[in-house]
Amino acid sequence: MNLIKRRPFGKTGLQVTQVSLGAMNLRLLPSEKEARELVNYALDRGVNLIDTARAYNGTTGDGKELESEIIVGQEVAKRTDLTEPLIVVTKGHGYNPKAFDEHLNLSREKLGLTVGPEGEILMGRTEIRLVYFFHGISRERWDEIASSGVLEHALKRREEGLFTYLGFSSHTGHEECIAEALDTGVFQVVELPYNCFSPSFGREQERYGNFFRRIHDQGIALINMKAFAGNGMVERTEIFKDYCYISPENRLRFCLSNPWISTVDAGCRFREELDSNLAISAGPAYSEAEQEALIGEAAKVSALIEGTCRECTHCLEKFACPREINFPEILALSARHKMAAGFDQSVDGLKKAYAAIDLQADQCIACGECSPWCEYKLDIPPLMEEAHRLLA
Ligand code: SF4
Ligand code: SF4
Repeated sequence: MNLIKRRPFGKTGLQVTQVSLGAMNLRLLPSEKEARELVNYALDRGVNLIDTARAYNGTTGDGKELESEIIVGQEVAKRTDLTEPLIVVTKGHGYNPKAFDEHLNLSREKLGLTVGPEGEILMGRTEIRLVYFFHGISRERWDEIASSGVLEHALKRREEGLFTYLGFSSHTGHEECIAEALDTGVFQVVELPYNCFSPSFGREQERYGNFFRRIHDQGIALINMKAFAGNGMVERTEIFKDYCYISPENRLRFCLSNPWISTVDAGCRFREELDSNLAISAGPAYSEAEQEALIGEAAKVSALIEGTCRECTHCLEKFACPREINFPEILALSARHKMAAGFDQSVDGLKKAYAAIDLQADQCIACGECSPWCEYKLDIPPLMEEAHRLLA
């Protein structure tokens, strides 16, 4: 316990564990019980930052509605063994003073926060450093924030002790408003996506320079989200891990090798994943050259998987081809063929598997009825034509 390496949390004076718990995935777990267990397991292992949001709600596998703020608040409140303040991040969508108060008050209520004798923020007995975010700033949201007076309002609420630090999260494509937000100098914590598939915030950009270095130089704590390139990448990883060296392990190591990041919100779902993340975080960092090589490999993978089937089989849950063709099976072989060929590996096994299929892609009449059922909006008829060309 408490062996996880720590890094400065901006200029707050806090030291944060370099791997933190993203509570977004709690809603994706098989049961609420497992969500509660995961929070406790992370705390047991010494993780000292939990990243949640008002919007992280959903239905767990056992059909229960889960609000991650409630789970985090209730589980932390039960603990009597946490000997140092815990950093809890939550996020709301209040971009004007009235909405800000509504969202902040609701989050405080869901988290079950109380006030200690000296005005400290508490969950049960544990002292909390509450980081409150404007969730996902975009041009429209930032314009409202900048013009509604909510920044001054938020700082007043912080002075009143309703939260400890003010921050924001955002995504690629919103660089201009991120730069404007950083220029205000009022934020103490920022959360941005970064991974080897999408490394732009940690690299020199012609117009904005290196965002991560800038955030660090301003003394702002930086939380790295989407270290594994988002949940949508899980199925894809299963495909490309057979052909290239990009693994979950080296993706996390890539993020941890960036010196400007305070903590990586690694968004795990299971104890084993958390253990694996913590083991990786104890290992060595990549050199600059190794990081560049990984970015190059990821770019190659991205090009090869663009517009291909993810083998999720969601389409088959609701649709069957009128010609009785198992089109996902064929599309999966085709996607793997592209990966194998792109990485100079043998495609013989894939061709053999295709030869064993009774109804091949040349039986497709290109009716297009399957396309609307594809989770990822693939235009399936031309992909079937391509599959037959590659595999027959
Ligand atoms: S066709 Fe679309 S929905 Fe069906 S398995 Fe492939 S990616 Fe998934
Ligand atoms: S486009 Fe081809 S695979 Fe899709 S439903 Fe029509 S026949 Fe079946």
